[in-house]
Amino acid sequence: MKFSDYPFNADIKFNLEKLGFKKPTDIQYKSIPPILRGEDVLAIAQTGTGKTAAFAIPIIHKIHQDKASKRTDFIKCIVMVPTHELALQVNEVFEKIAQKTRVKTLCIFGGVEQTEQIKSLYKGVDIVIATPGRMFDLQHQGVLDLTRIEILVLDEADHMLDVGFIKDIRDMQRFLPKKRQTLFFSATIDEKIKKLAYSLVSNAIRIQISPKDPVSKNVQHAVAFIEMDDKRFFLERIINTHKDKKMLVFVRTKVRAERVAKAMERADIDTLTMHSDKVHQERINVLEQFKQGKTKVLIATDINARGIDIPNVDMVINYDLPDEAENYVHRVGRTGRGTKKGQAISFCSKEEQATLKKIETFLHQPVTILDLEKEDYMETISFSKETMANENLKDLLKEVEMFEQSKKKKKK
Ligand code: ADP
Ligand code: MG
Repeated sequence: MKFSDYPFNADIKFNLEKLGFKKPTDIQYKSIPPILRGEDVLAIAQTGTGKTAAFAIPIIHKIHQDKASKRTDFIKCIVMVPTHELALQVNEVFEKIAQKTRVKTLCIFGGVEQTEQIKSLYKGVDIVIATPGRMFDLQHQGVLDLTRIEILVLDEADHMLDVGFIKDIRDMQRFLPKKRQTLFFSATIDEKIKKLAYSLVSNAIRIQISPKDPVSKNVQHAVAFIEMDDKRFFLERIINTHKDKKMLVFVRTKVRAERVAKAMERADIDTLTMHSDKVHQERINVLEQFKQGKTKVLIATDINARGIDIPNVDMVINYDLPDEAENYVHRVGRTGRGTKKGQAISFCSKEEQATLKKIETFLHQPVTILDLEKEDYMETISFSKETMANENLKDLLKEVEMFEQSKKKKKK
């Protein structure tokens, strides 16, 4: 079935065509009808399979239809997402699909002035895409009225229902209408969160695509056993042997992100970094630069593991393994999006073996091991520019030392 066969308004169809969307993806094909019928949906599908449009298309269609016959100047749908970047990205998808329709969307998130967001709210919007912090702020100030919400969407649903966010979501339930449609979308979910999700909805339809292997079928992924202190040499080698490739490198902490960037700088490799210490505008700029592709390597923490859709990321490197097993799936899912293929390599040190086991349990299967020959390993370390620079430094220090000693001898 093509999008042109759906009962959508001509503008929506035109917009989908402009986006290059001809046929629905599996998850879109399965989710659109129940969402149009007003049912609650829990949808699990791999990374990069078009989940955003799977909820955006039917929501926009419904609201557009409703507005033809009724005066509906209130917010009808709220989409909750975990990060600013994702809020902006999801909003962009909504805006593109809703162009020239009666549907207005707005994106609200913290870390920026609220004035513009409030102004837009007063002008009237139908759909709000929000991160929890600013959403609550504006709601408390009385400028964001969610009392007539008809549809609640949790994107990255398992994360939104996890410890860090669940209180917010529960608090939200208090001021959202009881009678509403609730939609959960994610690439991963575990039993505990699933139960929690069901407790929040009535008779949800469950749609699950490829539940056995949560890693996208477009991603070829493997692990290499590399010791902590040697990781940077391997990263340097991979980058240098794939100079034309766009790479996303994940590290455990923001301090490590900066440290790895410095190590690459010493090896004459230009990189970008992204973590929670950067202010909103910096984060947006970095993403933009990376999208444009002038700088081909982005070193990031898990804040960008989920949802972000950057075109043409060829490779994901897990420089450190993620602490949360499900983030493995989300990180490697930043490549191989849509119809593209991608590659992912994880560096696993002795200290991280237990984390790898946890990940394999989550995936229900072992991760392919990249066999590194001993000579190859040694070669990687000794040919690093950084090592060579260090060697030069060592030689220099030795010379200085010898010179000092000879001076002392002469004095004697
Ligand atoms: P997910 O949320 O499942 O990880 P996204 O919604 O971010 O995936 O979509 C991944 C990519 O697939 C995006 O670049 C999007 O433009 C593209 N895409 C989505 N639906 C279609 C479609 N029907 N046809 C072609 N490309 C699509
Ligand atoms: Mg998504």
